[in-house]
Amino acid sequence: MPPLTSWLVLPILVLLAAPATTPPARASPVASSFDGQREFDYFKLALQWPGTYCKRTRSCCPTNGCCRGSNSPAVFTIHGLWPDYNDGSWPSCCSGSSFDPKEISTLTNALEQYWPSLSCSKPSLCHGGKGTFWAHEWEKHGTCSYPVFRNEYDYFLTVLNVYFKYNITSVLNDAGYVPSNTEKYPLGGIISAIENAFHASPQIVCSKDSIEELYLCFYKNFQPRDCALGSDIKIDMVTSKKSCPKYVSLPESVSVGYNGLQSRVSDDVAL
Ligand code: 5GP
Ligand code: 5GP
Repeated sequence: MPPLTSWLVLPILVLLAAPATTPPARASPVASSFDGQREFDYFKLALQWPGTYCKRTRSCCPTNGCCRGSNSPAVFTIHGLWPDYNDGSWPSCCSGSSFDPKEISTLTNALEQYWPSLSCSKPSLCHGGKGTFWAHEWEKHGTCSYPVFRNEYDYFLTVLNVYFKYNITSVLNDAGYVPSNTEKYPLGGIISAIENAFHASPQIVCSKDSIEELYLCFYKNFQPRDCALGSDIKIDMVTSKKSCPKYVSLPESVSVGYNGLQSRVSDDVAL
């Protein structure tokens, strides 16, 4: 686990203690909708692999995490926490507040490190206009996580907590799946390493043969669960254009400098 500043450790421990010991939450009919929106069934924690994502970087800007030189991320970073339905669909842009950066100002340092935008493009917001990656994720997905989260701060803090608790990069590292520009790893081995650690199967998205995203799924109380339950969804995962081949790579991080040249992030960046 990466070193945490003390201000973050306490809330992390407090938050993680509770959900891990209780059985999966069941949808309550009373609290099951918010302004007519059907309550979601489970959470998907979407992680992205900078080694794959940053290869596509063609230009830099101060907010792009791919452009931090040797400080560019060399671990899975957060894409978002997405409330989903069991049938494979998901709600988006639900009722709720617009993103307010002030509400999460105490989390900004951690978010910049573990939930950086890996792009200069400004995503669309639900109510018009463009905003930050965090604003997009809160408005598109976070607002649909009612009644588990009723405000932005709880959503972002819990995403960080869950991300630290289920440290995918170190699980893969410990199993010998280390970033490499030459090695290919069996997809089945990677999935087994994650299943052994978390007792639930992930979903993996590739770009060609490189891992681009990795999803971990959770019940509403953040107990791990399999990402694919229904056979239709499993078939979809295997046949989808973004499904992975039998052998996949986990490319080393590259950093695109302001001069447009790509360089390898130094090996001393801890996993
Ligand atoms: P893509 O088409 O690149 O897979 O996904 C585009 C966007 O659709 C994602 O960034 C995310 O906002 C949304 N999305 C894709 N797959 C899922 C999913 O399984 N659950 C949820 N909630 N959103 C998804
Ligand atoms: P999603 O696909 O999650 O609905 O939307 C992601 C949006 O945020 C896209 O418009 C994308 O261009 C932008 N974006 C900004 N930074 C990132 C990033 O680090 N990863 C991804 N996947 N999209 C990002």
